[in-house]
Amino acid sequence: MLKREIPFEDDEDGFILMAEGGGGGGGGKVVGLVLVDIVNGFCTIGAGNLAPVGPNKQINTMVEESVWLSKVFCKKKWPIFALLDTHHPDKPEPPYPPHCIVGSGEDNFVPALQWLEEESNVTIKRKDCIDGFIGSMEKDGSNGFADWVKANGVNVVLVVGICTDICVLDFVSTTLSARNTGLVPPLEDVVVYSKGCATFDLPLHVAKSIGALAHPQGIPTSPGTLHGKGKRS
Ligand SMILES: [Zn+2]
Repeated sequence: MLKREIPFEDDEDGFILMAEGGGGGGGGKVVGLVLVDIVNGFCTIGAGNLAPVGPNKQINTMVEESVWLSKVFCKKKWPIFALLDTHHPDKPEPPYPPHCIVGSGEDNFVPALQWLEEESNVTIKRKDCIDGFIGSMEKDGSNGFADWVKANGVNVVLVVGICTDICVLDFVSTTLSARNTGLVPPLEDVVVYSKGCATFDLPLHVAKSIGALAHPQGIPTSPGTLHGKGKRS
């Protein structure tokens, strides 16, 4: 998927995303990486109501792929925009149970990505809603994501994270609409790396026991599904 959507060449990191854009010269596209909610509350075993209850291959793979991409982007000083789901305890997010409460630790990067907090090419945005584009709105009407796109001259965003069918889908859908209406220049394309995405597993019997909506992990998670007709969450 990644290779098909973005031209690659092999180098010591395994690939080069298009030409080196921005300060790199070469006239290629500038690619930015967007990390969606790769926080303990969704990815670390036992870290809250929406965290995995045991080893989870899909989530582990998503984290591994995100770490790999983050290392490549940081090595090249390419821009990264990281969304962290963070909620105030007095502001619930129905239909979901309390999760990623500020200060609980659930709202922080998974251990494998904590080093990103020290990287100069990384912009971190905490959000208290599902859609990371909306969650990037500031009180003065500006948008932190749009400002990041503009400041870095990003032409293509590569999106990874969790949950494929909820936060990733909403962010991608809104960003595509924003692009089409000219709100995020110079953004041209949004690419979802399916292997770098995962969703949480809340089977029906567990959901009933805690009074939440069921959300089995076995739902389709390909980008084709993301852009299909059915948006079910
Ligand atoms: Zn949330």
